[in-house]
Amino acid sequence: DNAQPKKPSWIRVKAPGGEGYNTTRRILREHKLVTVCEEAGCPNAGECWNAGHATMMIMGEICTRGCTFCNVATGRPDALDVFEPGRVADAVKKLSLNHVVITSVDRDDLDDGGAEHFAQTIRAVRHRSPDTTIEILTPDFLKCGPDALEIVVAAKPDVFNHNLETVPGLYPTVRPGARYFHSLRLLQRVKEIDPSIFTKSGIMVGLGEDRQAVQQVMDDMRAADVDFLTIGQYLQPTPKHHRVDRFVDPEEFAGYEKAAYGKGFLMVSATPLTRSSYHAGDDFARLRAA
Ligand code: SF4
Ligand code: SF4
Repeated sequence: DNAQPKKPSWIRVKAPGGEGYNTTRRILREHKLVTVCEEAGCPNAGECWNAGHATMMIMGEICTRGCTFCNVATGRPDALDVFEPGRVADAVKKLSLNHVVITSVDRDDLDDGGAEHFAQTIRAVRHRSPDTTIEILTPDFLKCGPDALEIVVAAKPDVFNHNLETVPGLYPTVRPGARYFHSLRLLQRVKEIDPSIFTKSGIMVGLGEDRQAVQQVMDDMRAADVDFLTIGQYLQPTPKHHRVDRFVDPEEFAGYEKAAYGKGFLMVSATPLTRSSYHAGDDFARLRAA
């Protein structure tokens, strides 16, 4: 039986709608942009889009990996669209974003894993909206040489986010095709190459991990100099995906948040509905103002 346990009251979310939501949707459609908000069926879409926040997903809608928690289709992706960086930049301008989160599918089919396309997108957004802070949420560039990461870092995103997604013991079932220590090392290398860039990572809980392993992941991230942390409840996109092992209660999340600040993270979001990009802009603006 792959059905998930009954959703607790703290998970229910409002159906999306409203003027802000519709405007965001229209601008994204006009620019033919894909969002992770929709692709992942994110429970925060109503709230985020109403406030004009969306996470753009570049390099297509088909991923070369097949993570068992993820709703994005696996297969052979289309060729890169050279006009996409410009369209992302236009949409960021039209949405008047103070902070944008840009992510992508994994492109193991490309020699550089899409690094140059990422860099072009960062440069295009910066050119059109110099005051907008840019957060990227990248794949792991596992199949590329070390220069792929250097190309992305050289474009100077403000925040470099790469999610570890889960504890190492669950990688074979949750994130096959990825390597825990490779991902950790990727984050550490960003800081080594350019210490002025904030690094960020996150995991989902409720996949079957135990609390001790979550604490260990936090320690590993800090050892790799990761600055920001997100922890959210895993939700099963369809019955075919990895099942929800349990719904972690809000007190346990609060405990993780407290522990994380104790370990030295600069910014932590750990709540049931936390997603990697949830309130990313507000949190970052607060940090910079502090
Ligand atoms: Fe989109 Fe992130 Fe908000 Fe979810 S939390 S709706 S993915 S911006
Ligand atoms: Fe989904 Fe990212 Fe895994 Fe691809 S690499 S299946 S987009 S989580």
